[in-house]
Formats: sequence, C-alpha cells, structure tokens
Amino acid sequence: MGARSVEDAHNAVLATAKELLAKGLVEGTAGNVSARMPDGNICITPSSVDYRTMALEDLVVIDTSGEVVTGTRAPSSEKSLHLACYEAFEEVGSVIHSHPVHATVFAVARLPIPACIDEFTVYVGGEVAVTEYAPSGTHDVGKAAVACLADRGAALLANHGMVAVGKDPADVLHVTACVERTAEIVLGAIALGGAVPLPEKVNRNFKGVYEYLRNN
Ligand code: 13P
Ligand code: ZN
Repeated sequence: MGARSVEDAHNAVLATAKELLAKGLVEGTAGNVSARMPDGNICITPSSVDYRTMALEDLVVIDTSGEVVTGTRAPSSEKSLHLACYEAFEEVGSVIHSHPVHATVFAVARLPIPACIDEFTVYVGGEVAVTEYAPSGTHDVGKAAVACLADRGAALLANHGMVAVGKDPADVLHVTACVERTAEIVLGAIALGGAVPLPEKVNRNFKGVYEYLRNN
C-alpha cells in the first residue's frame, strides 16, 4: 500500500503534518509524518522544522535504507522508526509519530489504553500497548514499536509518545486522534471509578473489522 503518486504523497504528508500541530497532537516541531510512494521510497518530514512554515520543498525522500534521495533538509531523526514499520508491514502506507498529552500520560505510566469504546476497536484494533523503552531516535524505537503493531493501528512509545500506522496520512491522523481522544476519556472514567472494558465478543468482532480495513 502507499500513495498513488510522488505528488500525492508530498501533498498528503505536508497537509497532515500541519493538521497534527493544529489538532494539538504535537507541540513545537515534535512528531513526524511519512508516506510510502509507488517506487517504495518514503516521503518524510524534515527534522526540527516549524510545521507552520513547512513547505513541499522541505520534505525529504529517503530510500528503504534511510539514504536521502531528494531534499535539502535532514530527514526526521525518527526515520528508522518509520522505516521499521514499512519493512515489517507491507500493507502500511503511512506512519505518524506524535506526542499527544493524554496518550503520553499512559506512555509515561507504562499502562495500556484499554479497548472500551466501539470506534476505538474498529479503527485501532483493540487495547493499545506500551512498547519496551528505547531512547528517541534510536533503531530500538522501531524494533520496540513493530513488536506491538502487527494487529494494532497504534502503540505507545514508553516515556515518549505514540506511533500510528495505516493506509495513508489522513487515515493515520484519524487513528492518532482516536487514540488520544480515548486516552482522555479513559482518564476521566478512571476518575469516576474505572473504565469498563467492552465485552470480549464485541471486541473480537470489531477487531475483525479493523483487520479487514487494514488489509483492504
Ligand atoms: P524530528 O523533528 O527529528 O522529526 O523529531 C521529533 C521527535 O518527536 C523525536 O522523537
Ligand atoms: Zn518524539
């Protein structure tokens, strides 16, 4: 899976990166967005560039080994996280790494976000796990994330933030926002006495829908 053209990939990555900031899912220049292109190369946001002024020419194209193919900026420092997801899952066409506040509360507490809302299981596949800890920007972040993403749209990066995968940047932005929204709701439910998980059978059925959507 991936973008239909190089132009599509660039436009989608840039628009989604700006939305990520506008929705408050990152602060400053944190987070990064990428998309797989028809030739297998990856279009990714540059490292430490302000989303508000980021333009198409700031985006970087890297090959599957991380070498820069086009672009004058340095690619995101999390490029190996993105590449690990593309290498592990051929159906994945886009990856977003973000730092949303409520999801990161769970990542810092090292607690999974439970599957307790119907749409969460449909779009994310079920409980969102916390990865093994690995320092930002290292290969180990990718290894730890892939271990949690085989049948899930998102994982919490321990003491750091979130990574989400899916068909295209708009789809993955939706997954990211859905996980963040659920994290906020679950924190509220915990304050009221606890979040009640969905019945197991319902979760199994909705997970089936997620798997269909991920692969079709
Ligand atoms: P980049 O600006 O290099 O993409 O890094 C942001 C980030 O969130 C690192 O974890
Ligand atoms: Zn980060």
